Amino acid sequence: MITDPATASLAEAIAGARRIALFTGAGISTESGIPDFRSPGGIWTRKTSILFKDFMDSEDARQEAWRRRFEGDAAMRAARPNRGHRAVEALIRQGKAQAVVTQNIDGLHQHSGLPPEQVIELHGNTTYAACLECDTRHEIEEMRAVFEDTSRSPRCLRCLGLVKTATISFGQPMPEAAMRRAREEAQAAELFIVLGSSLVVYPAAGLPVLAVQNGARLAIVNREPTPMDEIADIVVNRPIGEAFGDAVGVN
Ligand code: NAD
Repeated sequence: MITDPATASLAEAIAGARRIALFTGAGISTESGIPDFRSPGGIWTRKTSILFKDFMDSEDARQEAWRRRFEGDAAMRAARPNRGHRAVEALIRQGKAQAVVTQNIDGLHQHSGLPPEQVIELHGNTTYAACLECDTRHEIEEMRAVFEDTSRSPRCLRCLGLVKTATISFGQPMPEAAMRRAREEAQAAELFIVLGSSLVVYPAAGLPVLAVQNGARLAIVNREPTPMDEIADIVVNRPIGEAFGDAVGVN
């Protein structure tokens, strides 16, 4: 029995929709112990981001990027999918949604049991690294060993190109195939659900607008207001795990 009226509306909308698009941000992973960017105490209240250009141009910036990645590694490794991730996985398994479009880089949707092809990563993945020249995959632990041995940012073991976590930094081109699939999801949706995004990072934040322009209903789950609440049909201001878990009927 759902007592919160907004959560009850979301449950009803989910039950009535044949095609749902799911869009997640850092807020879905805070209950797994990974801080988001913009909440009080979030990463950006403590550090500015390293731009792609700086990573390419400066050894100091690269070293700082790697130091930050290694500092966050224990939390990243300890993180397990939470009730919100399980509810996303359940809706996809039921065929209500085809995939999740995520801004997250933590790999927790895959850990919840979704096959990689059903996780559309707009900002890449920080659980591994890749060469910026030849795209060879490198493991974070390997890169840490090189960094600690040489005190230099790691280079590709194959072509000596610069290696970076497999994420999309500010100023780095968006992955075209992922963006195309994300737009297709938004355009096909009857119901577009945003889970834990501040909806201020573009082009990702344009997806709910695209969905609404194509006739979808918009639902936003966030413990704070967002700039798109006014175009949303349903706004649930509660923690994602309990609200979305209740709405989908997943523990
Ligand atoms: P954001 O930090 O800008 O916003 C997170 C939003 O989630 C906030 O509006 C906050 O109010 C809400 N929120 C946090 N915890 C919540 C909870 N338990 N229940 C309900 N709402 C909750 O995140 P964003 O919009 O995804 O943009 C940040 C960018 O930073 C992304 O592009 C992403 O690539 C990157 N990032 C990723 C991770 C991750 O992978 N887990 C973590 C930090 C940053």
